[in-house]
Order: sequence, then structure tokens, then C-alpha cells
Amino acid sequence: MYEDEFHFDTIAVRHGIRRTPEGEHSEPIFPTSSYVFASAAEAAARFSGEVPGNIYSRFTNPTVRTFEQRLAALEGGESCVATASGMSAILSACVGLMKVGDHMVSSRSVFGSTVVLFNNYLSRMGITTSYVPLTDLAAWRDAIQPNTRVLFVETPSNPLTEVADIAALAEIAHQRGCKLVVDNCFCTPALQQPLKLGADLVVHSATKYIDGQGRCLGGAVVGDATLVGKDVYGFLRTAGPSMSPFNAWVFTKGLETLRLRMLAHSAAAQALAEWLMEQPSVTHVYYPGLAHHPQHALAKAQQKAFGGVLSFEVRGGKDAAWRVIDNTRMLSITANLGDVKSTITHPATTTHGRLTPEARMEAGISDGLLRIAVGLEDLADIKVDLARGLAR
Ligand SMILES: *Cc1c(COP(=O)(O)O)cnc(C)c1O
Repeated sequence: MYEDEFHFDTIAVRHGIRRTPEGEHSEPIFPTSSYVFASAAEAAARFSGEVPGNIYSRFTNPTVRTFEQRLAALEGGESCVATASGMSAILSACVGLMKVGDHMVSSRSVFGSTVVLFNNYLSRMGITTSYVPLTDLAAWRDAIQPNTRVLFVETPSNPLTEVADIAALAEIAHQRGCKLVVDNCFCTPALQQPLKLGADLVVHSATKYIDGQGRCLGGAVVGDATLVGKDVYGFLRTAGPSMSPFNAWVFTKGLETLRLRMLAHSAAAQALAEWLMEQPSVTHVYYPGLAHHPQHALAKAQQKAFGGVLSFEVRGGKDAAWRVIDNTRMLSITANLGDVKSTITHPATTTHGRLTPEARMEAGISDGLLRIAVGLEDLADIKVDLARGLAR
């Protein structure tokens, strides 16, 4: 495999390039829905799969393939299927792995739409889901039933940045004949490679850090040639939640700077977390890079850096938290993340607003909690923007 020959940064810049006779240096975009064949016989051979090659861009496009091959190599996987969004990556992975009557165990604190997908839509296909606290390995073990096929985890979690032990979960899954699926959106392969820790599939929202500049929606599933290359690809090529060539090109270019950006986001988040710890109106800071974080040692061993997302609690509940947000002049008030622009959000009234107060309490989402996805602006300006509301 390519990754045996070259290092991460080289793969990120060069892998999967398909140069045309024009001799272009940068990766080309192929905005075409279909392809032409030299003869009836060639068309027949392509359609039958006898001869590999492009057929129709729902499932074969050279620009999309470049992105898929590059991301697969960066994750250390054999195969990758690109999708129209992160949600369609999760759907494709679940449909690829499960059927009616199957059961899945998921960490409780996964992305909001993921919970809705599991509870309202996969349930209609006869696939049920149990939820467990992310760090409680005994709870994961106990939740596995005879019909459990998949363990699904997102780590670090959002917004409290809890860290799951991927190698331990992989072992639990495999002992019971299940597959471990990891949503690697928050770390990206630049900081964490779940397949190398034993996970079977990685899913991505490329919309976040892989793009990195808030432009395009996309997703991906990465894993071995059978699970991804046959099962997930088989669903995608038929159902059609495919990535557009233009988006694939943007994401391919995003991969080139991914590691540099992830290290910069992480360094800024670390510095901001330490600064927040010193603010009198801040009662707690959640960030895996802080020594008091319950999984600090695990995060240090499992990740190359601690990521760009942190959250913190302010004294005074919702009013105080909203005051911080409403006194910013630069930070973007949005629940999105993975952008060069820093974002701030109040989880209790946005991403977690539909939960009952009791469920929010159980999930650890207090009224004074704020989440920041730290961007790449000058840190001094981010501090000034926050200090105004924190001082009130
Ligand atoms: C955003 C996000 C998703 C969904 O991705 P989309 O590209 O918005 O469909 C899934 N998982 C995580 C962790 C996310 O942050």
C-alpha cells in the first residue's frame, strides 16, 4: 500500500493524482455525469464489470476517486467511499453493515442528527439502537445483545470532549462478533487513526475539518475492501448519496493542509483553554489537553494533539452564557465547527435544545455551558472578544 512507502504529509499532498495528457500540476476536476465508450463491446465490458473504468458519476468519477484514495491512505484503510454529506456516510455505513432485526450500541453523546437518524429512521428499517456513556466500558459490554452488529462511537465527544478508548472498544466489539464504527470528524486522520487501533470503519463529515474553510458538504466511509469496497459501495452506487466532483476537489485540496491546520487549531485551543482556566467567571473548562481532564492520559496516547473544540462553564447560568455570546464582535455565533473562523454556541438552547432539562442534565449540558470551535484567527483577538462578555 502507498502508506508503506510514503509518510502522512507526502500522501496528503500527492496520493491519488491522475494526471491527464494536458500535464496539469494541480488535480483536475471532472464535472461530467456520464462517459463515452470507444465501441459497443467496450461499453458492454465496462457495464459488466469485466473491464474497470468510468461508467456514470453516481459511482465512478475520477475527481471523487482521487479524494477517496487519498483519504483511505491517510486513514490507513484499503477502501473509501465518498458521500454527499457526513449524515449520508453514517447512513451508508449502517445500511452496509446491518439489516432488519439487527441492533447497534452507540455512545450517548453523538451528533444530534445521528441520534435522529438512529431513532427515527433506522428504527423504521427494523434496526434498533441502545445508548451508553462513552467512557463506561462495562456499559458497552452489558448493552451487547445476541443481535448486536455494530458499536458506534464519536470521540472526542461534543461538546464535553470526553474521550473513548478505541482499542478497548474494538476488542469488546470483536469478542462479541460486532464491528466498531468510529466517527472521526473531530480529530481527522491527522490526529487519530481509528483503523490502526482496531476499528472496522471510520466515518467522516468532510464538511468540517477536511474542508476546513466552511465551503462544501461531504462525507466518507473508510475501511477494508469488503466492508467498504463491496457492502457500503454497493448501497451508495444504487441509492446515490454521492459526492459531487467539485466538492471532492475542494476536499482533496483540504487534505493537503489538514495536518498543519489540525496542529494549529489544537495549539490555539490549548492556549485558549489555559487562558479560560484563569478567568474568575469561568467555573470549568472541558478540553482533553488539560491535565485535569478525566481522559487526558488516554487522549495523549490515542491522539497526536487534542483538537480544536473546547467547552467551558460560566458562573450565572444561561444569562451569563448568552452575555458572553452577545458581547462578541468577531466570533461567529453558529453551531458549526471545523472552520478557520472561530465559532461559539450555547448547547443548552441550540444543539441540545430539544432535550428535556433532565436529559440535558444527565448529558452534562448545563445552562452555563459554552462551546468554542477554535479557528485560526490571532489568539489575542479571540481572547479580547471573549473577555468583554466574561468581565460583565
Ligand atoms: C457535522 C457532523 C456530522 C454530520 O455531517 P454533515 O456533513 O453535516 O452531514 C456527523 N458527525 C459529526 C461528529 C459532525 O460534527
